[in-house]
Parts: sequence; structure tokens; C-alpha cells
Amino acid sequence: MRAYTYLSEGKFALTEKPVPSLLKDTDAIVKITLTSICTSDLHIRHGFVPRALPGITVGHEAVGVVESVGGKVRSLRPGDRVSVNVETFCGECFFCKRGYVNNCTLPDGGWALGCRIDGMQAEYVRVPYADNALTPIPENVSDKQALLAGDILATGYWAAKISDIEEGADVLVIGAGPTGICCAISALLKKPNRVFICDIDDVRLDFVKKHYPSLIPVRSSETAERIAAECPHGGADSVIEAAGTADTFRLAWECARPNATVAIVAMYDSPQVLPLPDMYGKNLTFKTGGVDGHDAAEILALISRGELDSSPLVTHTFPLSRADEAYELFSSRADGVMKVALDPSA
Ligand SMILES: [Zn+2]
Ligand SMILES: [Zn+2]
Repeated sequence: MRAYTYLSEGKFALTEKPVPSLLKDTDAIVKITLTSICTSDLHIRHGFVPRALPGITVGHEAVGVVESVGGKVRSLRPGDRVSVNVETFCGECFFCKRGYVNNCTLPDGGWALGCRIDGMQAEYVRVPYADNALTPIPENVSDKQALLAGDILATGYWAAKISDIEEGADVLVIGAGPTGICCAISALLKKPNRVFICDIDDVRLDFVKKHYPSLIPVRSSETAERIAAECPHGGADSVIEAAGTADTFRLAWECARPNATVAIVAMYDSPQVLPLPDMYGKNLTFKTGGVDGHDAAEILALISRGELDSSPLVTHTFPLSRADEAYELFSSRADGVMKVALDPSA
């Protein structure tokens, strides 16, 4: 089969690999019908993800059809349409029992697919802990609608969940890329007063205006002033930082009102400074990290009921055979690109 592979730092290529087979009785094999490129894939290519192993197939966001299941898999059968989770997890260790599946301590626990083991930018993938890592897709939800449920929409949903957003609150999301928008539309589910979303890129702000009119797009350069002027307590009640650029960490805590929660879901290329003297007395709560992706069933149910829709974010689709071109477009940010999907059947 064809698989898009991390060869060495700076180098991905389409390679031929054998179709994977079941290795454990908790595994499933999934035939991929649609997969997508994530900024984390670019981070792997740039060598920013030390855990990523050269030789692995990349890709950690996909939907597909179950091809076969191991003897201990209870909730799935061949033929089921499923969303594949970015994280595979046992469900039984110290962290999993508390919902912190990103830190599952088993060998294939946490972000393994497309990082430490073969991922989903391929025709087939072997999925460990299939009962936890695969979620059936409701019949009325298309592949495109479900595509982001396993990774960036899961991230947005989780970010909104950990941000202590109260009904009627003012929320600021930093970054109007795909992840930021997923955070913002998930924040809307909490019935806030307003969700502001800022970016330096006018194309992205126009995208928000067009597809998500309930969000309030703001230019990054005007954000601090506008938030201070418009939010009644001197800042946003909850801030979600999803941009990960040089100035955005500072912008995040500066725009937060005293006693706010600031959730950092961005993946930075370099260390950030936490200037505690400058923020003394503001009594902020910071939350950081990578998604605990175990809400796929809830997310897919919301999509099925029309309450959550990330499908406009999938702006481009390429056949898997043109993955090089797809990556080029995704990393160039040209042509209004948000998310690029890869279709292994085309
Ligand atoms: Zn990702
Ligand atoms: Zn676990």
C-alpha cells in the first residue's frame, strides 16, 4: 500500500509498505477513507518532535472503515465507519482512569499514531486499543464532517472544557487557524456572552466572518485594546491561546482579566517566558498541554445534531498520491487554505 512516510529530518515521501496486520487482540485494522494534514505533521518534518520516529507513516487525523478486529475488541465490527482518535489509550492506567488519556502509560498510549507508530496518511492503519481509539460515525455525518473529530476538533472541545467558561462569559481565542476556530466554536457550546477570535492574517479573519458569524473576529494588533475596552472586568474571562507564535503567549495573559483561566493549547517552536513579576496580583490560572482526546463520541453526536460543524475548515482535498503538493499548499498558507484532506482511494 501507499504510505506517506517520515524519512529523516526535513524529508517526507510517499513509500510502498505492506498492508498492516493485527498484532494484538485489542487492535483493529482500518481502511482510511479520508485523512488530513496537521500542523503537528509539519513540526515532525522540521524535527521539533523528538519522539517522532523516522520511518513511520505520518498522519493522526482520519476517518475510515473497520477492516478487521482482534479477538478482544468488543465495540466494533468490520464494515463500521469510524473516526480514528489522535490518541490511543488503555482506559485502565492511573492517567486514563482520570481522563488524562494523553498521558496513558502503556507503550502505545497517548499520541503514538503518526508519531511513534505508523499513522493514517496511508491506505490502511493498525490502531491499538481499538475500543477506545475508534468511534463509530453516526449515519447522517459525512466523512468530511467527521474528519477533524479525532484531533483538532477534539483539541478545541477539550480546550473549551478546561477553560472554565461560564455562561455569559467573554472568551478570547488567539489564532484563527483551524485549531483556534475549533476552540472558538467549542467555546460557543458553553453559552458565553461573546467569543472573540484574533489573528494577524486578514484572510483568516474573513474566513471566520464568512463561515462562523457568531464569532467576533479581531486583528491581533487591536486585540489588547479592544478586549480591555469591551470586556467589563478589564479583560476576557477565559483565554485560549491556539496560535503559538512569538508574541501570543504574552498577548494571552495580558488580555485575561484578574482571576481568569488561560489555556495554552498551542505547540511552540521555542521556550516561552512566564514573567511572574509582571503578572503578580493578577492571580491567573494557567492550563497547558496536549488534548486528552476521549470525547469523540460526544463530538460526533454534536455534529450529528447540527450543533458543531468543522467541515468548512476542510478547504482542500488531494489524492494521497499528490501528498507532496498537498503539504506544500498546507505549509504555504496560500489560496485561503485551512485544512488539507488526503484521499487514499483517489
Ligand atoms: Zn494534530
Ligand atoms: Zn492508559
